[in-house]
Amino acid sequence: MSLTTQIKEFALDLGYSKVGIIPADSFPEYIAELTTRQDMYSFYINSPGRPLVAAEPRSLMKNAKSIITTVYDYSQKSFPKELTGKIGRIYQARSYYAPPNTINGARTRLMREYLRRLGCEVADKISLPERLVAAKAGIVNFGRNNFAYAEGIGSFIFLSSFVVDKELEYDSPTVEIGCPAGCSACMKACPTKAIYEPNKLNPRRCIAFNTFLTQERMVGSYIEPEIREKMGTKVHGCDICQEVCPRNQARLKAKLPDDPFLVNVANDFSLSQMLRMTDEFYATRVEPLMYNYIHEKKYFQRNAAIALGNLGDPAFIPDLAKAMDEPEELVRGYSAWALGKIGGRSAKQVLEKKIEYETSESVIKEIREVLLAIM
Ligand code: SF4
Ligand code: SF4
Repeated sequence: MSLTTQIKEFALDLGYSKVGIIPADSFPEYIAELTTRQDMYSFYINSPGRPLVAAEPRSLMKNAKSIITTVYDYSQKSFPKELTGKIGRIYQARSYYAPPNTINGARTRLMREYLRRLGCEVADKISLPERLVAAKAGIVNFGRNNFAYAEGIGSFIFLSSFVVDKELEYDSPTVEIGCPAGCSACMKACPTKAIYEPNKLNPRRCIAFNTFLTQERMVGSYIEPEIREKMGTKVHGCDICQEVCPRNQARLKAKLPDDPFLVNVANDFSLSQMLRMTDEFYATRVEPLMYNYIHEKKYFQRNAAIALGNLGDPAFIPDLAKAMDEPEELVRGYSAWALGKIGGRSAKQVLEKKIEYETSESVIKEIREVLLAIM
């Protein structure tokens, strides 16, 4: 059996749905695209993965010869309705760059170990343009919503690749749009019009990106009021442009088995608990799913406040009133916004009381603006 076949069969045995291989050449088209849109993507270009450097894999691994790319289908089990619309499916599935001590993280580790046992040198993680890599290897094509689609699955997939120093047998590309002619359902459904042209996304308008805004990622934590209103109940990620897609309907409508862990999480997950999060809730209900981008409770609390405000239900006023005593001014400020969104006499009374002893200038400003709008 050839080295290529051994690698592909091992990957399939590990649970990957598709495997492809391409030479470890540069991606000039990706570099050109990212460079022309650096105003929108500066946060990503300057991130530790240095994607413009990584798009020339041999600049990071001189003897790189091949890229092995994989599709993992993360929608093989169902997603509880209590979580869907709040947490993106890829995060619920715990598959997106999963920690090594989890089952999905172990898959990556086992793949690397196997490649090394076969005598390959394997690069440490290189932030490759995974969708383009997979399309060049013929295992996905593109949707106009920018997601990659795998035949027989759809776009609920996680792509990951391994750069090695061995020449292997290479696959043929499918770098093309696989959408039905005339379809633009994703663009029409996007609440913020973040997809401004087919295959062109402005991340700064994308709800998913906004839910991940933190100081840690050096993008700041301020979410524009216009975007807050469009976030609905989403606290981590957004799946709307994938949910409306005809190419995903077979999977979305399929009767899939439950994921027992997610069922447990869903049973005691609520936006109110996320807003007034205890350490235990964070450790058991938030961190196991949403470990990728946010590592401080206050940003989840911010997102929960926005979500409760968008629900517009006066029943949440007591939770938001208590959140206005939280030590983090970020949480107090967004809770004030949420109270304003719910509106009415009770919300106004809470804000009038809180402003009397609020010490943060930014929260006082937020409360004042809200009170003016309520009147
Ligand atoms: S993830 Fe949501 S906000 Fe972002 S482009 Fe898709 S529908 Fe629009
Ligand atoms: S909604 Fe239509 S245009 Fe958008 S990705 Fe799906 S098939 Fe393509």
